Amino acid sequence: MDIWEMILEGVKVRVGENIFKLWFEGSKLLRTNGEEIVIEFDSLKKAEWVADKYYNVINEVAHSIKGDNALFVFCAKDNQGREELIVPGIRNVNIKNRTKKSFLGEDRFLEERYTFENFVVADFNRIAHAAAYSVAKKPGNQMYNPLFIYGGNGVGKTHLLQAIANYTRKHLPSLNVMYATAERFKEDYTLSLKRQKLDEFRRAYREVDMLLLDDVQLMENWSSTQEELFHIYNSLYMRGKQIVLTSDCPPKEMVGIDKRLISRFNSGLVIEITTPGLEAKILILKRKAEKHNLHIPDDVLEFIAANTDGDIRELENCLKNLYVNLFINGKPINIASAREVLHYLEKNKQSDITSEKIIQRVAEAFNVTTKEIMSRKRTKEIALARQVAMYLVREILDYSLNYIGKIFNGKNHATVIHACEIVKNLMQTDEDFREKVNTIKDSFYRKR
Ligand code: ADP
Ligand code: MG
Repeated sequence: MDIWEMILEGVKVRVGENIFKLWFEGSKLLRTNGEEIVIEFDSLKKAEWVADKYYNVINEVAHSIKGDNALFVFCAKDNQGREELIVPGIRNVNIKNRTKKSFLGEDRFLEERYTFENFVVADFNRIAHAAAYSVAKKPGNQMYNPLFIYGGNGVGKTHLLQAIANYTRKHLPSLNVMYATAERFKEDYTLSLKRQKLDEFRRAYREVDMLLLDDVQLMENWSSTQEELFHIYNSLYMRGKQIVLTSDCPPKEMVGIDKRLISRFNSGLVIEITTPGLEAKILILKRKAEKHNLHIPDDVLEFIAANTDGDIRELENCLKNLYVNLFINGKPINIASAREVLHYLEKNKQSDITSEKIIQRVAEAFNVTTKEIMSRKRTKEIALARQVAMYLVREILDYSLNYIGKIFNGKNHATVIHACEIVKNLMQTDEDFREKVNTIKDSFYRKR
């Protein structure tokens, strides 16, 4: 029996036969090297789901068996036999992508399901949808250039933006379309600067026919990145290239963004996606249920719509849970089971602060990249940034030392304690440093 088989025995007891069959069956030990244990799943979905939902269980069982900590890496092979790796606890960091040759843009993160066909249109998003669709069909029309879409969390901004990319990819394949989040844009910029490949960066972003930039509000206070965007923007605009931007607030409310950029964001079409009302939520639920051949009675649809707020992700989560309940536990879909799911989701609603976000902000403040923080490099700047990140993850999320160690690519808990001590001491003696760390911390609690 190998170590994974032993762990599986324990996991089975904890999660029950049904869940076990559904997610763990077919997984096997692929290799171990030192402290790293690589597990292969027969689909990426399973690997992701297990990493997301059952990582803690696995960890506990592993710890009780091995008595020490292992770093798990989950993987699945794609149809060409390439490994896609997932490090649990670091969501969305795909190791295969990290080593990809072209380091610019974010094409590879386009979601196939984010299409216009899958986008439910209702009052709250009708205009945004129409504008995005026009842009996709006829990029560069002055009326819509730039197109600036803003709205709250989970109202469909990213979906629409990627729908434009997916649409043009299919119908106008000769167009060079670049989708990037503001974070990615910044990371590309910083990396190019560091590698002395600024030319390559500028060329890549200026030679596009369409630039889709997601979450530009994140650019606040990144002044050199903003400067770079300003020039790229002008160059694209002058040549009639399409620009689409999203943000969580309208341009006029943006703080820490260069006035010249704000006036450009404002110069085309600015559209809000408001939050979906009751009718719209019911419609979205209905469509999504149909897609999965799930029948949900009208009163249940209404009940869910009335008891969730405007984040469409919540509706999706609710459906997913009802689906699992039905097919795994045989629980019928009715108001009682819907209520149960909603309570469960409410309880589990995690704050949207994640370790990734903390690491990201520390990287920004300390002028290093998140990759460097996650690496094993030990130059002074990087090591300090890494220690601050560990300290803040501990302070803000209150995770266990072991767990934090895992997040940072398998450091042991002593390293984490050491990091926290160093940061605390330095905060006592160095006022600037204290200010810097506290500013990062405060940024997570500031109301927008
Ligand atoms: P935002 O970027 O505004 O935070 P997203 O675009 O990420 O929101 O949307 C959150 C989730 O809700 C995604 O899974 C998306 O597919 C779904 N969603 C949002 N709007 C719609 C819509 N109009 N129709 C169908 N699904 C939607
Ligand atoms: Mg988004």
